[in-house]
Amino acid sequence: RYSTAVEVEEPISPPVKVNYTQLLIDGKFVDSASGKTFPTLDPRTGDVIAHVAEGDVEDINRAVSAARKAFDEGPWPRMTAYERSNILLRFADLIEKHNDELAALETWDNGKPYEQAAKIEVPMLARLMRYYAGWADKIHGLIVPADGPHHVQTLHEPIGVAGQIIPWNFPLLMFAWKVGPALACGNTIVLKSAEQTPLSAIYAAKLLYEAGLPEGVINVISGFGATAGAALASHMEVDKLAFTGSTDTGKIILQLAAKSNLKPVTLELGGKSPFIVCEDADVDKAAEMAHFALFFNQGQCCCAGSRTFVHEKVYDEFIEKAKALAKNRAVGDPFKSGIEQGPQIDKKQFDKILGYIRSGIECGATLETGGERFGDKGYYIQPTVFTNVKDDALIAKEEIFGPVQTILKYKNLDEVIQRSNASRYGLAAGVFTQNIDTANTLTRALRVGSVFINCFDVFDAAIPFGGYKMSGQGREKGIYSLSNYLQVKAVVTPLKNPAW
Ligand code: NAD
Repeated sequence: RYSTAVEVEEPISPPVKVNYTQLLIDGKFVDSASGKTFPTLDPRTGDVIAHVAEGDVEDINRAVSAARKAFDEGPWPRMTAYERSNILLRFADLIEKHNDELAALETWDNGKPYEQAAKIEVPMLARLMRYYAGWADKIHGLIVPADGPHHVQTLHEPIGVAGQIIPWNFPLLMFAWKVGPALACGNTIVLKSAEQTPLSAIYAAKLLYEAGLPEGVINVISGFGATAGAALASHMEVDKLAFTGSTDTGKIILQLAAKSNLKPVTLELGGKSPFIVCEDADVDKAAEMAHFALFFNQGQCCCAGSRTFVHEKVYDEFIEKAKALAKNRAVGDPFKSGIEQGPQIDKKQFDKILGYIRSGIECGATLETGGERFGDKGYYIQPTVFTNVKDDALIAKEEIFGPVQTILKYKNLDEVIQRSNASRYGLAAGVFTQNIDTANTLTRALRVGSVFINCFDVFDAAIPFGGYKMSGQGREKGIYSLSNYLQVKAVVTPLKNPAW
């Protein structure tokens, strides 16, 4: 536990080898056109894990050409939906077969606890693929009862070449949320992984080919945002773009799409989600769930419950519990059993988070526990709790994306609704109450894409996810994700004998 540990022990040797470091274009592993590589680092130490091919404009062009050809001429959009579904099912089987290697790559590259990757995230990847395999042969249009002597139908067709840009906080899950619906609908893909975590996407895409995916249907480019990412977002032959990451980059993506071919864009961006503990809440459970809502994944969740609003009647009791939970959080090498919190992703995020912690102290909030780095190597940060936080403090307004809980006091429901909604973000909210009327009122009043009542971070494949306001555009997962990857074609035929 962090309060007693003196420093992080020697890093545990990861139980996996890095076999794939090239770009995956047209079903083949290739070097980047420039021959350049970049290092991907172990967040436990800052040491190099591997040198990975660095994709740039020319590689994006090659990948888009391959995806274009696979869409325009290849078997994928033309095969039966049942056959496509079977490939996704075989992929899910292969994910399960390689569960531990995928999880180890994810932990090594990202720093998340191995047990979490192996028991929750990789199994969720397989689950998501089976969910989308189930959709593949249930996507169809409608017969429309239009006025006049016409037979009118709609065809739901794949949109074409999908560009997908994913972040580093859940590399495999973000891969699944994007690739699953795109493939189920019969599209082809160029995916750019995050420069901090390129390893698991290449591995997963390789398994897709092993499952029988035709050449060129998915192309994976490792590389940076301003080069490879921007080239993908501005490409004239990309028919749709899906992005997850920061709100600032989301704005750039929209501009690049508008300046090129007006490709439709879905965005899943930042958040500053309220977690509201009402006066009638079970305080033990609320404190535990609020702790999970913030600290899960080292606090690196777009929907983290990062403004913990607690009713004044239970405030003191809640703080004691929140503090104890943070102090007892098991921080350490993510490959070690029982560890709940590993290092932050990289030095940039580590410095940014410590900067927010300093700003919290300077603005007069009370630092209850934590506040410093953990150990003397890598990017570990002590679980940190601030109380007496004012709404206008930076730590209450901006996305910290780290293990820093920010607790605010409130007096009544109208006030907490107003304060919760006074944010440019609108991704999610947590509500802890035993009163159905309170739950209903908050659910309807909060301007957010997900409300978790007496729970948090429930990410079943069927549950739609996305943001209001500057947290994004569109929804991923569930039935709603399919329309992002489909075109609707209206087909009108005159009726010879309108009477029949
Ligand atoms: P980012 O938005 O810059 O990066 C996300 C992805 O976008 C990466 O693949 C990156 O290479 C790509 N990208 C960056 N600039 C691009 C550009 N100009 N054109 C096209 N693609 C581009 O995020 P970051 O710098 O890694 O993290 C910064 C902050 O973003 C974090 O502190 C956190 O607040 C937020 N974030 C949010 C999420 C989320 O799930 N919503 C995920 C990661 C980070």
